[in-house]
Amino acid sequence: MTAPTITAQLQAAFEAFLEAHFTRRDKTVVDTLLDPSVTGFGTSRTESTFGDMTLQELFARDLADAPETVRYQINHLDIRPLASDCGLVVSSMDIATTIARQRLTLHDLRMTVVLCHQGNGWRIVHLHISLPTTEHDDHESYPVKELEERNAVLSRLVDERTEQLNAALSHHRQMAVTDPLTGLYNRRMLDEQLGIDMERAERYQSSFAVLMLDIDHFKSINDRFGHQQGDRFLIQFAELIRARLRKSDLAGRWGGEEFLVVCHGSTLADARTLAEDIRLNTEAADFGIGESRTVSIGVAEFIQGDSITTLIERADRGLYLAKESGRNRTCTTPDGPPQ
Ligand code: GH3
Ligand code: MG
Ligand code: MG
Repeated sequence: MTAPTITAQLQAAFEAFLEAHFTRRDKTVVDTLLDPSVTGFGTSRTESTFGDMTLQELFARDLADAPETVRYQINHLDIRPLASDCGLVVSSMDIATTIARQRLTLHDLRMTVVLCHQGNGWRIVHLHISLPTTEHDDHESYPVKELEERNAVLSRLVDERTEQLNAALSHHRQMAVTDPLTGLYNRRMLDEQLGIDMERAERYQSSFAVLMLDIDHFKSINDRFGHQQGDRFLIQFAELIRARLRKSDLAGRWGGEEFLVVCHGSTLADARTLAEDIRLNTEAADFGIGESRTVSIGVAEFIQGDSITTLIERADRGLYLAKESGRNRTCTTPDGPPQ
């Protein structure tokens, strides 16, 4: 079998480069095809190895600008061996790619490559890419010529950025109202919700009630099993509450090992039923510490004239009563008019 001609070798090396650079967009492979001292020019005025830029940077920029596969069709190919270990490839091609979900087609991209055979293969020592256009923005690897095309690209980019910003915004909103340990709402959200419910209850004479829950002797869990186990307990307890809520209820961490549940449209009796459900399930739950645990709960129903403070105070008094009378119980205080 005869060795391939130099022309065939040059063509194979050039095609390997196009495959790695355009089809696979694989910069690692491209780098192996470049001689360390390679020089070159890209399509824009700023893309020249005369400046501070290396060809590696030029390709990195190209990939960042247009990460999708670039489809190409060679229209003209001229291969000229210059010596037994050196040759020139001059080509012209049409290319097409997708940038920001916009399909772009560029005609007559010209590529000139000087290849040298060094040791184990052909390496590119010089490369020149040019686009025959006068309306060429300096900072674009893939200049977008038509105004309509440019608008379409820009509006897609704006849509994408807006989507990303909205996602980030809703993530931040969620974070701002969430207790990071338990995933329940935080104190800020509870305050906000109490304000909303209070206004609604006053205006529409509707009922709503709150549960103030405090885990009994929680400190001893930390002391005996460690703070991490304490955290796990809080997470599991939060999950236990969450599982018992109706759609109209909202639960949050009031602070430390205290939780508040706000029940829209609930009377004192409804809220007591929910409280007892949580209390009995807490007593029966396996928290992974080899013993059962309990919770005390104060319940209060909104009465006309209440403020957040007076309502919460009543729930707190109920909780205090529950603790005083032996814990593991649900208590209310007589609903006198707010002071
Ligand atoms: P009581 O029955 O009277 O409510 O007793 P208690 O031990 O539950 O109440 P106390 O207020 O004495 O202790 C609450 C403990 O909760 C103290 C604090 O270290 C612990 N704690 C508060 N926040 C967290 C937390 O985020 N993680 C853990 N692991 N512990 C917490
Ligand atoms: Mg407490
Ligand atoms: Mg406690």
